[in-house]
Amino acid sequence: MLIIGPPGSGKGTQAERISERLGVIAISTGDIFRANVKGETLLGVEAKKYMDAGDFVPDSVTNKMVRDRLGESEVEDGFLLDGYPRTTAQVDYLDEILAHGGQQLDVVLQLTADDEELVGRLLGRAKETGRSDDNEAVIRHRLNLYHEQTEAVVAKYAERGILTQVDGVGGIDEVTDHVMQAIKVFQTA
Ligand code: AMP
Repeated sequence: MLIIGPPGSGKGTQAERISERLGVIAISTGDIFRANVKGETLLGVEAKKYMDAGDFVPDSVTNKMVRDRLGESEVEDGFLLDGYPRTTAQVDYLDEILAHGGQQLDVVLQLTADDEELVGRLLGRAKETGRSDDNEAVIRHRLNLYHEQTEAVVAKYAERGILTQVDGVGGIDEVTDHVMQAIKVFQTA
């Protein structure tokens, strides 16, 4: 399963909840990058400059990281991927990884929210967490990238008939209820 949404849509929070309820392992590319930045690994040092500017980390770095993570035996029965793919090139790459592993996507969940709501939320989050990519100019840049690049990703999955959309505006529990309802239809035995 994939979860896709603009920055601030609550995808990390909802991913955690889906993971708990369905007993599926959640993988967040943003979290992996942040852990590497914190640990000052080579990958982290490379990723940080892009993250701080609100840019995508290059595919040469991101794709390999995702391939390695999805190759781990603990996720061979399934996973919930949060934050990848963000570009149509990454969709193609993920297709290859899945084909290689004999896996396929059951459902792609998109959380929606309008830009002004998201900017407000992210500025609030900036005060709480001090995330270095949560200032207004960078936030707007990340939102633009979402519209320019990631909406094309969503369109691809819609064409394949595996997309479901949920309004991400509302109380966290309410959104979780809607999410669980929406993905139920796609659940395999
Ligand atoms: P997130 O926590 O999902 O908002 O991700 C935080 C940052 O990590 C993004 O703004 C990007 O700089 C980087 N990142 C996460 N996932 C990807 C991806 N699939 N492709 C490129 N960069 C990514």
